[in-house]
Amino acid sequence: EPALSIRGLTKVYGNDFHALKGIDLNVPQGDFFALLGPNGAGKSTTLGIVCSLVNKTAGQVKVFGVDIDTNFSLAKYHLGVVPQEFNFNQFEKVYDIVLTQAGYYGMPMREARPRARQLLEDLGLWDKRDNVARMLSGGMKRRLMIARALIHRPKLLILDEPTAGVDIELRRSMWEYMRRINREEGTTIILTTHYLEEAENLCRNIAIINHGEIVKNTTMRELLAEL
Ligand code: ADP
Ligand code: ADP
Repeated sequence: EPALSIRGLTKVYGNDFHALKGIDLNVPQGDFFALLGPNGAGKSTTLGIVCSLVNKTAGQVKVFGVDIDTNFSLAKYHLGVVPQEFNFNQFEKVYDIVLTQAGYYGMPMREARPRARQLLEDLGLWDKRDNVARMLSGGMKRRLMIARALIHRPKLLILDEPTAGVDIELRRSMWEYMRRINREEGTTIILTTHYLEEAENLCRNIAIINHGEIVKNTTMRELLAEL
């Protein structure tokens, strides 16, 4: 079964703004997948629905075969999410933010502590573990969001514009990290981006969304051959 399967997904905001017009999408297990498209196309809405942050109007979403409508409490264990906005408590310490998340998933602390340490080390944040999040730079906050999203070892990691506003050097090291967890841990990754270069560097399969419709769904290789 696919890591993510979307059928006839529709979102109407307010009375009649059709942000998603019945989209279909399959993301195979182990894939590194990019959802591309201009601003306002419907990327965040799509991912928001998958994560249950946005209510859908119609359609079906399954995460590793689990329907999010009937069983979100199970589906959420498969999902790690990095939204665009920083949504952690800015006054909480870095290490505590990651451990608090582990608590939401019922991870025992003896398991969560070494996992949090490993993630913070890998993402270059271990030295900052006792700082309150407010004191971090934008790039550090972005990496903190990634550490937090991975604490419970999700099989599917969803990243909305993961390197927006990040300088080129940090962007490259974040690419390296994402590649590593995709290859070594087999984590399926879906990201949205408007940097074609980012998708080109990372992704195997892509879908392009425009005005709430999938206008292309192909491999990165084929997309590049057409350009
Ligand atoms: P709905 O209940 O229709 O799903 P929301 O509760 O998500 O809509 O949003 C309520 C209202 O907030 C919208 O009708 C809109 O006026 C406004 N809004 C929030 N975010 C946006 C946005 N990104 N673009 C346009 N309007 C927005
Ligand atoms: P993208 O992530 O591709 O930039 P979004 O999914 O954020 O696109 O938005 C798709 C469309 O839906 C946009 O036209 C946006 O203004 C609109 N929209 C997003 N959220 C809301 C909302 N809460 N209420 C009304 N319109 C919204």
